Formats: sequence, structure tokens, C-alpha cells
Amino acid sequence: MPSTDRTDDDSSTGPLATHSRPHWQKELADAVRDADTLCDLLQLPDDFRLAARESAKLFPVMVPRGYLQRMRRGDPSDPLLRQVLPVVEEQHAVAGAVHDAVGDLTARRAPGLLQKYAGRALLIMTGACAVHCRYCFRRHYPYSEEPKRWADWAPAFRLLQEDTSIREVILSGGDPLMLTDQRFSELCDCIEEIPHIDRLRVHTRLPIVLPSRLTLAMVCDLADRRFKTLFVVHANHPAEIDDECARGLAELVRSHITTLNQAVLLRGVNDDASVLVSLSERLVNLGVLPYYLHQLDRVAGVGHFEVPIEEGRRLIAEMRRQLPGYAVPEYVQEIPGEPSKSPI
Ligand SMILES: *Cc1c(COP(=O)(O)O)cnc(C)c1O
Ligand code: SF4
Repeated sequence: MPSTDRTDDDSSTGPLATHSRPHWQKELADAVRDADTLCDLLQLPDDFRLAARESAKLFPVMVPRGYLQRMRRGDPSDPLLRQVLPVVEEQHAVAGAVHDAVGDLTARRAPGLLQKYAGRALLIMTGACAVHCRYCFRRHYPYSEEPKRWADWAPAFRLLQEDTSIREVILSGGDPLMLTDQRFSELCDCIEEIPHIDRLRVHTRLPIVLPSRLTLAMVCDLADRRFKTLFVVHANHPAEIDDECARGLAELVRSHITTLNQAVLLRGVNDDASVLVSLSERLVNLGVLPYYLHQLDRVAGVGHFEVPIEEGRRLIAEMRRQLPGYAVPEYVQEIPGEPSKSPI
């Protein structure tokens, strides 16, 4: 591991950004981070504003402006807005909701490293994201207890070195693409040095919410690696994938990066067969395969997004009637202690 203690926000010396901060970091700095600005820009009624202020205290607002531009003005039920707007329902307690619904804390094998499933280990690279999804299952994750400096990652990398059963490293978070190109590349160097690691998987929502993050430098770097790279992006609704986003996804596919999508089944966002069908159509036309449709994890504050499993099953059955088999995602649920995600 590199042993420097530099933090991520001081240097952004990727090959495309030697002189100034790269475009994506400027966009990130300019993201909307408070309920009032969000309500102003979207021209929402006042009762939404009061609720948004209150619920933003539970989990702060964060929305890149480019993503916001894909939303309809004056419509609190816009499916993209619903994913990021704090609402009064978040304050309601829901039976069965907990803080660590998916058993992350018991799967921690080293600081920053979770392993639940055979052959693959997941690194919590950062707690930061470019967007705050209100339904996030990690909204209560204790990120502050995870490694912050390079040196803190030594135990996780030692474990990866020693455990030859691990063939795939999954970068997660937060969002691992919040790292600078330089830092990301250093991380890839460390992984490349471990001979038994065959695959690197990047779980990221940035290609959807901040498509400028897919820099040429990063994509070229990954294309040259010894390991096979996969991206699992996260789009829930076809309106999230605008033209810039589509170009970025197509570029990943052209660079031989296997690209999959995972979505979460969400009330008022994609609980409609025609929406799920057009999402799948949009993805497969870009070369991105639908991977998982997740049943919502029951963490505190997200109950209003829940769609009952019976209804989810009917939606999948309808997708199957309308789409080729490869365009139908697997409907799964995460049950703590199970050896894989559980198909429903
Ligand atoms: C979801 C998850 C994975 C990935 O599971 P796949 O079925 O391989 O996509 C790996 N590790 C952890 C800890 C997970 O939560
Ligand atoms: S991008 Fe992913 S990790 Fe970040 S808030 Fe959204 S769902 Fe959570």
C-alpha cells in the first residue's frame, strides 16, 4: 500500500487534470446541498419545503445540478426528484426497520472490508456520494469508523493478499468513483499486485448522476489492467439516463468493461411495468445488462418507498412477457446470513 497520508480533496492530478480541478469535481462542488435551494430550483409548494428542511436533518440533501435538470419543475412526484427530496414520511417509524438491515456490521473482516459471499470481498472506499438517495440502505452506516488514510487500509490489503479464495474485489461505499483518478489508479495498482485477484468490480452511481466523472484517463487506465473490470451502475428510471449519461455508458462498453445495472424497486419511482420495461430497453440498447432489481432494504426512514413482494413479482412477470430474457433483471432480496442475495 502507498503509505502517504494525503487526503483526497487536495490533489486531483489525474492525467486530464494537471492544472486545475477536473470538470466533475467542479460540478460536485456546485451540487445542491440544502432543502431550500432544492425546493426553489424545482418550484415546489411550501409544505414540501418545511418537510424537506426537517427531514434533511436526518440525512442531508445532495443533488448534482445536471441530475436536477432531468426533473420536471413544479412536480413533487417526479420520479427523479422523489429519490432525492427529503419528505415528512422519513420521520415516521416503520415496524421492522433497523439501522443495519443487511448485516454489514457482522460481515466486517477488517477495517473497510466486508465479506458476505464466497470469492468476493467488498471494500468501503469512502462514505461520500455525489447524490444522497433517500432510500439508501447505507444511510446509517458508520462510515466514520472506516479507514480514512492510505495507511489505515493495510489490514484490509493484508487480508486480500493472504486469502487466496478471494477472486473478485468489489469497490463500494459511498461511491468509489468519488476518489480522484490518481487515487483510483493507485488503488488499482495495489489490487493488480495480488495475483489471485482476477476481477475488479466497481459499484457506482456516478455514471448516472454525474456522467462527467467517467474521465478518459480512468477508463483507459482500467482497460490496460491485468484484471477484468466490471461496472455495476445504479439507475432506477429511464429518465435518469440522458444523452451524456448514455455516451458514458456506451464508452465503458466500448472499452470492454462489462457493465451491468442494479435498480431498487421504489414506490412512486419505478413501481410500474412500463417504466421498468423502458429502463431495461434503454440499458440494453446501450450494451448495459440489467442485473438486479432489489427489494428495498428496511432501514429506518425509508418505509414509504416499500413495494410489497407480491406486487414486485407481478411486475417482473409482466417484464418477462414484454422483454427478451436477458433484459429482465433478477428480483432479489438481501437476507442477513444467507450465502448470496436471495432470488424472490
Ligand atoms: C451485494 C454484495 C455483494 C455482491 O453480490 P453479487 O451477488 O456477487 O452481486 C458482495 N459483497 C457484499 C458484502 C454485498 O453486500
Ligand atoms: S449513490 Fe448509492 S450509496 Fe450513495 S446515497 Fe445513493 S444508494 Fe446510497
